[in-house]
Amino acid sequence: MSGELAAALYAATQTPLDAPLQIIAADARLRDALITKVPLWEDRGWIGIANAPLWQQLVNRLRQRIAVTTIKPAHEEHEKALIKKAKERAQQALLLNNVTTLAEQPSGPFTVSGVKLAALTQSLAYKGIRAKKDAPIRRGRDRNLRDIQEHFKTTYNTRLSEQDIWKGVRHVDIRNQIKDFLWKTLHNAHRCGSFWLNIPGYEERARCSWCGQTESIEHILTECTAPGQMTIWNMTRSLWENKGLRWQSPSTSEILGLGCRKWSYNDKKQNHGATRLWRILISESAFLIWKLRCERVIGHEEEERWAHSSNELRSRWASTMNQRLHLDAATTHPRFGRKALRRDIYADTWHDAVVDNRALYTHRSREGVLVGIPSAGYELDPG
Ligand SMILES: [Zn+2]
Repeated sequence: MSGELAAALYAATQTPLDAPLQIIAADARLRDALITKVPLWEDRGWIGIANAPLWQQLVNRLRQRIAVTTIKPAHEEHEKALIKKAKERAQQALLLNNVTTLAEQPSGPFTVSGVKLAALTQSLAYKGIRAKKDAPIRRGRDRNLRDIQEHFKTTYNTRLSEQDIWKGVRHVDIRNQIKDFLWKTLHNAHRCGSFWLNIPGYEERARCSWCGQTESIEHILTECTAPGQMTIWNMTRSLWENKGLRWQSPSTSEILGLGCRKWSYNDKKQNHGATRLWRILISESAFLIWKLRCERVIGHEEEERWAHSSNELRSRWASTMNQRLHLDAATTHPRFGRKALRRDIYADTWHDAVVDNRALYTHRSREGVLVGIPSAGYELDPG
């Protein structure tokens, strides 16, 4: 498609910004790419996209236009002939000049550079970091890794390598969206707290709008007094204790190390069901707390002291856990072949955490099984 892309760029450059432009393409691919793919590519910082400079220049030029631009697939013979001619002209332009002189350098306000954080997935970020030789050394990340190692050593007498921790946050039991959240947390890559201190005019955002303290992931997940974290952890605790296990309020290091945490029976044999449930419960709860905080702080920025109601918090947690349970149940289906979750592991994980254990063992009641939710008014100290 690069020939056609160059031709489109050539046409866009040759046409004044205030004159109508119709781009005729061989098929719908160019149009579809411009409409649906470019926003994704921009979000990803154009990492790994073929012909990225050409695309960027085309998009930039089209965005500057003030007259109508249309793109249509070629139907008539003469339209196909036009494309051939345009490709030749573009080719000549490319041969005579350098690709970048086909159009002027992208103009600032119309260009999105870098990677939008929301679109930063792990593998993409790895690629980006590898591609960028001068990536700054992430001091925050190193400190987080050290804190987790220290926590596991003093609390569980377990030595974790950095690789163990990275593997832990990518554990298959953690949903992809939450893997990204944990990965960003490990890199201090969230836009909260001290991130804003370096941005003139936005320093105020560094503080928690509810408590007035400097915000941090630690504050959000474990300390904030805004309705949210305490209720979510209380519900998590009650589910955990239903399983007959001892609760400990997770610290940030505990949350970030959740993929490495092993639970055992009294006889020291590993309790695989509990270990797996911990990964699920803690990851889902922590991520829900983060989402709730963003809804409150960003979604309701204009409403002073806006907060989720207790009922809303309870039902959000319940539906999150039920969805995760149903996802687990669905994954046991034989159609997933060797990738299917083993039914015994599934049942082991959720045994005593659901309303009726029998539902875990009947193949036909996947949707019928529900997480045991503490009754309303049931509150625990977050001890
Ligand atoms: Zn707070």
